[in-house]
Amino acid sequence: MCGIIGYIGGGNAAENVLEGLRRLEYRGYDSAGLAVIGGNGKISVVKRQGRVEKLAPLITEMRGCVGIGHTRWATHGRPCDANAHPHSAGAVTVVHNGIIENYAELKAAFIEKGETFFSETDSEVLAKLVNKNFSGDILTALAAAVKVVKGSYALMAICENTQAIAVAKSKSSVILGFGDGENFCASDEPALAGKCKNICSLEDGDIALITRDKIEIFDSKLKPVKRKLRPNVAVSASLDLCGCPHYMLKELKEVPASVKNTISAFYDVEGELKKALDGVNRIIIVGCGTAYHAGLLGKRYFESFARVPVEVETAGEFRYKDPVMTEKTAVFAISQSGETADTVEAARLALSMGAKVVAVTNAPYSQLTRLASVVVPVAAGPEICVAATKSYTGQITALYLAALAFAGKKTAELEKMPGLCQKVIEDIDINTLAQMCARSNGVYFLGKDLDYAVALEGSLKLKEVSYIPSEGYPAGELKHGTLALIDGNTVSVALMFDKALAGKCENAVEQVLSRGGRAAVITNDTEVYNNFSKRCEVLLLPECDKYLSPLISAVVVQAIAYETAVILGRDPDKPRNLAKSVTVE
Ligand code: GLU
Repeated sequence: MCGIIGYIGGGNAAENVLEGLRRLEYRGYDSAGLAVIGGNGKISVVKRQGRVEKLAPLITEMRGCVGIGHTRWATHGRPCDANAHPHSAGAVTVVHNGIIENYAELKAAFIEKGETFFSETDSEVLAKLVNKNFSGDILTALAAAVKVVKGSYALMAICENTQAIAVAKSKSSVILGFGDGENFCASDEPALAGKCKNICSLEDGDIALITRDKIEIFDSKLKPVKRKLRPNVAVSASLDLCGCPHYMLKELKEVPASVKNTISAFYDVEGELKKALDGVNRIIIVGCGTAYHAGLLGKRYFESFARVPVEVETAGEFRYKDPVMTEKTAVFAISQSGETADTVEAARLALSMGAKVVAVTNAPYSQLTRLASVVVPVAAGPEICVAATKSYTGQITALYLAALAFAGKKTAELEKMPGLCQKVIEDIDINTLAQMCARSNGVYFLGKDLDYAVALEGSLKLKEVSYIPSEGYPAGELKHGTLALIDGNTVSVALMFDKALAGKCENAVEQVLSRGGRAAVITNDTEVYNNFSKRCEVLLLPECDKYLSPLISAVVVQAIAYETAVILGRDPDKPRNLAKSVTVE
């Protein structure tokens, strides 16, 4: 979380950094700031609580060829001007993404020596540490500083009178951009889209020195190392809203392409995946948030198609549960960004225990792909909205295909799904249901089996973008507790895409209606439609294979969340307190 960017070259550093921050804002938007080394060698800093755009009027007078910037998702210290990055100490100024776990003891030691701190952040100790080790050389100062640090960092440091940016990385990601007479460093690829020809990723422990004409990379002992260059394929067109008012809507409309492209991409890795999974007798799926919800569906696919036992865990829990794994265990690690700290660490743990790691990710050059035994690509394309939409449907598609491949089975059903998703996006009118949600005190999503997994995602999405309290639960559980919450101010949304289970879920809707609760049904079963259409809001979707129905029901629940947020005047692309790419624990 948080985005950092550095620029050095012939252009205006403040403008270049600001542009990078605009592109990285999806990673955090509590506050933003930037620092530029001016023509006199002195560093000027501007920072503000709030959105990146607040910096625009503050940089008009800033001149200089070296700059670093930060858009924050606060971990330590509330969002305010003082806690915004950059942080300075003496001649040194830094921006930091990550968490310094031993900051309290480092800070106490500085305070004992009479140092003053100007923020409540963990990051300010980094500025103090680099400054303490600084005697004219920013690279050695940075290398010495990070030696005493525990935690995660993508760290950029500049110092007065030096035309260079020093960068250090541990756990949080950093990419370097090789331009023509200008160079860049950033948290993530979208910041550099269209800006330079080649990029490379730093590895943990790396330190880099970036000047206008050169990028040098070293290990933690400052021995030179080489990192593989790759073409900078990120395109700035991906940042285009294409006429949509929000990225969330644009990305929802891209669900059909996400499913289609993920299918095509899968065939390139199918052989490699089958080989990697040869002899595997147990699967563990890990992910966080929406990726975890995709994992719940993945479990059903592997267990039904291949009869292999599967466990699904949230990555942050799995890591600390002393899990049992052998070389016959495959761990599927799902992360849109491939940088989710808990998921990356869970994958590392699995590898250290001899398990095979399969990355399911939308980011082909992420940390997760670099450590995985094999990568099953999610070809959703860049997802800018903080709330995941098309990456979720891409993950479901990837898991479905992986399970089929593992089982040695084939089906043509999936090929129909991009078209069906498109039809649902065009034909299904969710406005009435969104109005009901917007006027409610709580929305409960219920379903059985696969529908329950989508219910969890529908609920999470609604919470994320509309801030309405919501819960997803198995339809049969209603009478064991949640029924107590049902009244005329709540909406219960039942998903019914499995004919064999519909009757059971119908009972739950009856129970809601008979207690005066408001209800809605989303189904592709005409019998269910006929049963409820006169008594509550019912959305009738096209028929399809039950295992693939989550692809169309997901689109609908995500669209409801979007529409509800818009009705309530929320910004669905940047929900409060959230950020994309959760790179801290
Ligand atoms: N821990 C730092 C802070 O709270 C950086 C947060 C981040 O990486 O988003 O300022």
